Amino acid sequence: MTSLPNQSETYDVIIIGGGIVGSGIARDCAQRGLKVALFEREDYGYGTTSRSTRLIHGGLRYLEMLDFGLVRQDLKERETLLKIAPHRVQPLPFILPFYRCSLFYRLKVRVGMLLYDLLSYDKTLPNHRYLTRTETLEMEQGLQAKGLQGAAMYYDCQAAFPERLCLDNILSAQRDGAVVFNHTEIVDTLRGTEGGVCGVRVRNRLTGEEPEFRGRLIINATGAWVDRLLKGWKTPLPPQLRLTKGIHFAAPLANKNALVLFSKKDKRLMFVIPWLGYSWIGTTDTDFDTNLDTVHALRDEIAYLQETVSEYLPQNNWSEVYFTNAGVRALVRDNRPGASESAVSRKHGVLLHTHGDGLEGMITILGGKLTAYRDIAEEVVNRACELLQHRVEGRTGTIPLPGGERNDLKNLKAEVGRAGSEYGLTQAQTDYLVSLYGSEAYAILNRIEYDASLAKPLSPEYPDIRAQVVHAIEAEQAQTLNDFLLRRSLLGFTKDQGEQAIPAILEMMAVPLKWEAERVAEERSAALAHIALTRQHREVVTKSDMNT
Ligand SMILES: Cc1cc2nc3c(=O)[nH]c(=O)nc-3n(C[C@H](O)[C@H](O)[C@H](O)COP(=O)(O)OP(=O)(O)OC[C@H]3O[C@@H](n4cnc5c(N)ncnc54)[C@H](O)[C@@H]3O)c2cc1C
Repeated sequence: MTSLPNQSETYDVIIIGGGIVGSGIARDCAQRGLKVALFEREDYGYGTTSRSTRLIHGGLRYLEMLDFGLVRQDLKERETLLKIAPHRVQPLPFILPFYRCSLFYRLKVRVGMLLYDLLSYDKTLPNHRYLTRTETLEMEQGLQAKGLQGAAMYYDCQAAFPERLCLDNILSAQRDGAVVFNHTEIVDTLRGTEGGVCGVRVRNRLTGEEPEFRGRLIINATGAWVDRLLKGWKTPLPPQLRLTKGIHFAAPLANKNALVLFSKKDKRLMFVIPWLGYSWIGTTDTDFDTNLDTVHALRDEIAYLQETVSEYLPQNNWSEVYFTNAGVRALVRDNRPGASESAVSRKHGVLLHTHGDGLEGMITILGGKLTAYRDIAEEVVNRACELLQHRVEGRTGTIPLPGGERNDLKNLKAEVGRAGSEYGLTQAQTDYLVSLYGSEAYAILNRIEYDASLAKPLSPEYPDIRAQVVHAIEAEQAQTLNDFLLRRSLLGFTKDQGEQAIPAILEMMAVPLKWEAERVAEERSAALAHIALTRQHREVVTKSDMNT
């Protein structure tokens, strides 16, 4: 069990929340030489970061909202992330099919596509182009042919595993001296003589320890949890966020490219993304005011998505729902009367607290997309540096993240494949290791060099090997079974969500983490509860099924 850091020290910056934004801030602070501590209540990337559509995109949709600044910022970041995280962020072609569209609509798309290219004039990805009806059907054979006129094709990017993008930021911060703790929540703020915030009291949720830490500046990066924390600290501020829920589900693979579709019911845009051998369908956007900690997909929400995909891709079996996920967006509150969920800007806000709101000494981040995390972090750390009079420029946009040192992934896979074959690993296994660790896949091979038994698979069903578990515990702070299944490996996204590997992982985690039988049983129950919650809609019947 990891012990908490030295309490007698005063940190320059204490970060609350280890989602992508908090982790990005920790990396930037540490790179600039600030003394930083980060506390995450659950695990790195556990929150909204792991519930996204997994796109690194400008967002064609936001052009319609005339949010050009946001789109430009995100398109720039897309390019930056391709450079600093080539192992995490990859180009993805998108197809937007036209069905019996009016001339006006096609003109609107044409303008949108042109603008999208103009706003990313400095990109390395190809520009958009148009496909004829025949070309569209050649590229996407499953698309409904009736009424199809052609399509627009453009490029954005996918981060297949944002959980590990978040972890890369944590590892980078740690290597530059940050102290980072998961499963540790902030339970209260400490107040100085003037009433401002000068530290935090934390609780390690695994050990029950409740130490206090002092900091010159506190950064609240708790995403959708922000208002809950502000309320708990009794500030007079009104709620800052509008929370909206979005869900996805994984279905049998029906498409080669990402598809942009519009709901027949309410014309909302949704995606069908090829991801890990599935079609990943999402998302919804509905106001949310219940429990953030138990958010999950509902039957009606899945049926809403199924209704649209089954019309556009009629041949697929959409009643096969392998698993679902659900998350909550933190949107900066928009007080326009009647603004719909989808009409609220995705632009973030930075709240510098004052004596008046009782939280002087704290900065709160409001909203912000996964795509923009690095840029948001840089903006916040620039502010922090001004306040702390620490004049060092940020460099997160040019220094690769851990594992991102090589952008020639094909060569890297071949090299790791050759090295791995010495230990009896197949090319599929070493390719998988590269997809998890990028250029740091060699760290896993080094572990096998010292202990050949670590090359053994966790279960014949998956490419995962025992060395990954040891690495996750010793080098990546995995402290629970779900940490490993869902945020260190891709086991949690296999068709049986890693269930077959659970006995082997538990056996390997129990000894180093000193788990008694009771704790082992709790860990197993927690993993099975997650599987049950996200698998409960396998039987949802689609409209097309009902019609047959
Ligand atoms: C359905 C959906 C689809 C999306 N798709 C995309 C997309 O494709 N592309 C894109 O760019 N963006 C997308 N987003 C938005 C994106 O996922 C989020 O904006 C981003 O992940 C927010 O990161 P964060 O770090 O602010 O929040 P989070 O990831 O939620 O992190 C906040 C963390 O704070 C922790 N915390 C809470 N309370 C405490 C406490 N007391 N002490 C310590 N820690 C605490 C939580 O456990 C959590 O881990 C999507 C969002 C949703 C909901």
